[in-house]
Amino acid sequence: MPPDQEQLRWQRIREGGPWRSILFAGALSWGGAFSLLFATAQGLFGDAPNFWFSALKALPTGLVAGGIFGWARWGYALLEDRRTRRAVDPDEEKPKRTIKMTQKKNKPILPPAMLGILGGGQLGRMFTVAAKTMGYRVTVLDPDPHAPAADYADVHLCLPYTDPQALQQLADTCAAITTEFENVNADSMRWLAKQGIPVCPSGDCVAIAQNRIVEKTFIRDAGLAVAPFIAANTAADLEGDLSEFLPGILKTARLGYDGKGQVRVKTAEEARFALGEFKHQPCVLEKMMPLVCEVSAVVTRTASGEIACFPIAENEHANGILDVSIAPARVKPEIAERAQAMAQQLAAALNYVGVMAVEFFVLEGDELVINEIAPRPHNSGHYTLDATLTDQFEQQVRAMCNLTPGKTDLVSPVAMINLLGDAWGTDGSEPNWEALLSAANAKLHLYGKKDARPGRKMGHYNVLAEAVDQALAQARAIQSQL
Ligand code: ATP
Ligand code: MG
Repeated sequence: MPPDQEQLRWQRIREGGPWRSILFAGALSWGGAFSLLFATAQGLFGDAPNFWFSALKALPTGLVAGGIFGWARWGYALLEDRRTRRAVDPDEEKPKRTIKMTQKKNKPILPPAMLGILGGGQLGRMFTVAAKTMGYRVTVLDPDPHAPAADYADVHLCLPYTDPQALQQLADTCAAITTEFENVNADSMRWLAKQGIPVCPSGDCVAIAQNRIVEKTFIRDAGLAVAPFIAANTAADLEGDLSEFLPGILKTARLGYDGKGQVRVKTAEEARFALGEFKHQPCVLEKMMPLVCEVSAVVTRTASGEIACFPIAENEHANGILDVSIAPARVKPEIAERAQAMAQQLAAALNYVGVMAVEFFVLEGDELVINEIAPRPHNSGHYTLDATLTDQFEQQVRAMCNLTPGKTDLVSPVAMINLLGDAWGTDGSEPNWEALLSAANAKLHLYGKKDARPGRKMGHYNVLAEAVDQALAQARAIQSQL
């Protein structure tokens, strides 16, 4: 539930810290006011020779009294914060795994401020376009000289993500920093946050999403359903009775994407063999779930705790890569609402600031299980570029700039299809764009990548229609002509 104005007021005081309360809110404003009042009273009722002389004489007492008052006010803000948290969650007193917020202040960051992004792939490019449209300037850090985001960014730092000079430049020039991929160095994010810059999402949240074992454990501890899993840090972890997790999928804990770094296993022996194939790096063995379908939720949360969720998308994969997303998802409204609520609950448990995607499995009996999270906008949210009032990249800008999330209403049913390098000819010839662009309700988004390799995400298109099945049928028809 978004906090009310009163809670926000106390939150601002609390986050301002004790010194701000003592010096500025307390000593200077209250202390100054006290000394002026004192001088006025002396002028009216006493025999003060000079107003300003009296004010000056009263100033030290005023400053001390104001400081004490400011300090007490800050203390009250701390108590008030604990009280409201406990009212929402009676278990607040129990120690809990929480993530520290990187944001210190909730002041809006306004154009033409410079925003920084780690990563300049297609997600970084669409973020940059959104930010530039809103009047911000953008610095992209990406070691690839042909990074898709560099076409639009004001500054492209073509350096590694851990380069000290690049990070220093981001710290010196940017008002806030975000990322477009989860495998960004979490310590770089933490270092930037230590320089006092809002970093969204925090390095801690990114670190959780980078490791499937930590991620799944966090989700389960937050009281949300995940598929039964066991951490396989070494072969010994796969020695006992694994029947609960079989048949299953062995996934590397780190660096898996687009179905890479995972293998399906039927027996414990196969699981141990697969672990060997992965060179004994930490893995999770996860039970194979009987999927009715897959859906995802893209949620936006600000440092003030304001939260907004896009309509749920229904996703289909081909060869381990997302192929099509449609919205609204063809699931019962109750399931869609539950998925949105779970995504928001998880974002709050992570104390997440920014845009986050949550992937779900829908099982028989209307059961929902969380598969994984992505600490950034998501491929399955690309439909928002044309079909919702605000798109996921504008939300990313809004969240990092402490602006209220934009409205997420769906303005039309939509089908989004990914354009992989396979659609290009082996001689590099372009797909049949005319088949796509001659449709008045189809929207093409290309990422400006030069090299069209098989499986490489080159772009996507959205088809908007009156009904979602109609949008999907037309999108498929276009796909077959490309
Ligand atoms: P992506 O980058 O596309 O999100 P990934 O490499 O991170 O993929 P997952 O999302 O874990 O990997 O899995 C990819 C796909 O494999 C899922 O979308 C789903 O279709 C299938 N899958 C993964 N885990 C399970 C499971 N436990 N039960 C059934 N299907 C699964
Ligand atoms: Mg996935």
